[in-house]
Amino acid sequence: MNTMTESKKTVTLNYINGEWVASDSEQTAVSKNPAKIGEDVGYYQMSSSNDFDQAAVSARKAQKAWGKLAGSVRGDYLLKAAAILEERIEDVATAMTQEMGKTFAEAKGETARGVAILRYYAGEGMRAIGDVIPSSDSDALMFTTRVPLGVVGVITPWNFPVAIPLWKMAPALIYGNAVVVKPASDTAITCSKVINCLHDAGIPAGVVNMVTGSGAKIGMEMVNHPEIDAITFTGSNTVGKQLAHAAVDRGIKYQLEMGGKNPVIVANDADLELAAEATISGGLKSTGQKCTATSRVIVHKDVYEEFKEKLLTKMKTITVGDGFETGTWMGPCASEGQLETVLSYIEKGKQEGAKLLYGGNQVLKDQGYYVEPTVFENATPSMTIAREEIFGPVLVLLKVDTMEEALEMANDSEYGLSASIFTTNIGNMLSFINEMDAGLVRINAESAGVELQAPFGGMKQSSSHSREQGRAAIEFFTSIKTVFVK
Ligand code: NAD
Repeated sequence: MNTMTESKKTVTLNYINGEWVASDSEQTAVSKNPAKIGEDVGYYQMSSSNDFDQAAVSARKAQKAWGKLAGSVRGDYLLKAAAILEERIEDVATAMTQEMGKTFAEAKGETARGVAILRYYAGEGMRAIGDVIPSSDSDALMFTTRVPLGVVGVITPWNFPVAIPLWKMAPALIYGNAVVVKPASDTAITCSKVINCLHDAGIPAGVVNMVTGSGAKIGMEMVNHPEIDAITFTGSNTVGKQLAHAAVDRGIKYQLEMGGKNPVIVANDADLELAAEATISGGLKSTGQKCTATSRVIVHKDVYEEFKEKLLTKMKTITVGDGFETGTWMGPCASEGQLETVLSYIEKGKQEGAKLLYGGNQVLKDQGYYVEPTVFENATPSMTIAREEIFGPVLVLLKVDTMEEALEMANDSEYGLSASIFTTNIGNMLSFINEMDAGLVRINAESAGVELQAPFGGMKQSSSHSREQGRAAIEFFTSIKTVFVK
């Protein structure tokens, strides 16, 4: 059982050395439903340093045998976990919608993606992982092989509480590492359900561990712990930079996936219907709480008014409400803090002189943390709403005279995660592919999302070190050994 009941509270336990265990801190915190003020989803533990130490030590012990198993055998565990997660999609998605407000359809889609991630990496366990390199000595054999890093610390955010832990854990595990996961507090219950699938798949004790609690405490202990050999993190830039400093001090490998301020360019030859639809979907699905969400919409002056009308017409049809209700297109912000952040950016946009075109208000106040889908115009690239990641359903329209100006503006950001262009002109497409400084460059497709078998990550302040997902994940989760045989 991944929970215990204590004074009528259902408390999610830690998973250490193959068992669900209570923290010795005896402290818990509540996970709240952002769609229903006053509704508690359950409790998770505010773990102690000792809890984390036990998890790290058990991971170290287990990794030795795990790392020696054949990749296909490790893959079998992932396949079993995938089958179990598939059976539990409704249950896991229910927890996700309750904890962070994503619509139930989106939550089921994300959980199904988790199943696919496990299956994909199970297959990677059977793929050749080295190169034969011709030696200048014709009697010698030279090749590379890859070895696990050891114990990988995994720190994840609340916005994709199933997919992100899995797209870090699955490659870590298939390449022979053990893991200790610190999930985001707001979605610790959802993550524990994913870990339970690995447990029920019979993964050997200690190979996977989960410790819940304060990010500042457990997260920092993780990066500084002698049994942790590498850290993979997704979250905010502020925290990512702190972790990077600590990782450099210890000389361990680290991988950071952080924020975005993702632009969409609408050229004067674009399919405006498609561009408007993709801007709505890319910017506002999941209440804009995706690192790849569209936030800056850079539109050529020739089509500006027509595009704006199409965008507004679509925006006005968006229904905001509880993610479990059929007909809801956009759920609440994930927490009260997140709502306050979004509202403060909207206020800042107005103060700095941008024109609020649509939305901007909190709605269903007595029910949950809801905000209207919002769009500004007459913004300048230097305004806060055009520079900082809002992580909410707020779009900023920027008008340009030329495509050169559009590209320059799109690149004028400290971030470089995802970027889209809508155009029918091959020249525009090629300039965008060549000159856009973003890890994900998308043509006639929304900025949010990338298929799981493709590398994922950004440039500039959005990411650091090697990419996640697909085959690229091997770069982070293994070390190369060059072998020379004579
Ligand atoms: P966050 O940085 O506050 O938290 C992320 C994780 O770090 C959580 O598990 C948290 O508990 C932990 N943490 C918090 N303080 C810590 C500390 N001092 N030391 C170590 N760990 C600590 O981010 P969030 O609010 O959960 O997520 C939103 C952010 O994540 C946004 O900036 C978003 O762009 C980013 N994000 C990026 C990607 C990507 O792939 N690039 C994907 C999703 C989210």
